[in-house]
Amino acid sequence: MNKIGVFGGTFNPIHRGHELTAVNFYEKLKLSKLIIIPANSPPHKIVQDNISAACRLEMCRIAFEKYKNYNIEISDIEVKKEGFSYSFDTLKILRKIYPETQNQIYFLIGSDMFLYLEHWHKYQELLEMCTFTVAFRNHDDASEVSEDLKMRDSLTGRGYKIEMLYNTPFEISSTEIRKKIKSGDLSYENYVSPEVLGYIKERKIYVLQ
Ligand code: ATP
Repeated sequence: MNKIGVFGGTFNPIHRGHELTAVNFYEKLKLSKLIIIPANSPPHKIVQDNISAACRLEMCRIAFEKYKNYNIEISDIEVKKEGFSYSFDTLKILRKIYPETQNQIYFLIGSDMFLYLEHWHKYQELLEMCTFTVAFRNHDDASEVSEDLKMRDSLTGRGYKIEMLYNTPFEISSTEIRKKIKSGDLSYENYVSPEVLGYIKERKIYVLQ
């Protein structure tokens, strides 16, 4: 049976934490396909540094190009759409494109976003359309794990399908990377793939203007 994974985000920029978590997700769940979906306009945050959706999409493309043995698609579904990028709308479109998957769509989400899920647009309807798979973001953060498990139990108790990825966290965020670049801290280079690093340098994005 087709098992499709979905990974949405702002990806401003896409970093190794995203990449490793996505690959882990693919392997652990034995996905038949993974769709990476950069948001055009995320409802819950401002896209910092005015980095266009097309540019974030391109960074995703070059980051995942090397995974030739994986069936990974970088989708422009949200980039093409005007207005806010709601996961509920995206999932509805994906279920139409892949009618055979129906209840086999897995939606990858980091712990920070998972704990905020009840604020998402039509989150209950969204939860009915897929299985959320939760990735840890912080090492040794017992409270993160316990909060996640509490949230999982509360949602599964209401009949929704939630799985934990039980990944080894790779602690980095796009915010930290943008800050490092602006402050001239070259350690940011360890947190993005060489392909994305080349793109950032060539375009001179995220630097203080
Ligand atoms: P920002 O710092 O700009 O808020 P971010 O690093 O959180 O960005 P997003 O593009 O907003 O990145 O994240 C997309 C998805 O990836 C979210 O579900 C988020 O929780 C998850 N995610 C981001 N970074 C990691 C990481 N290091 N490990 C696991 N999941 C992550």
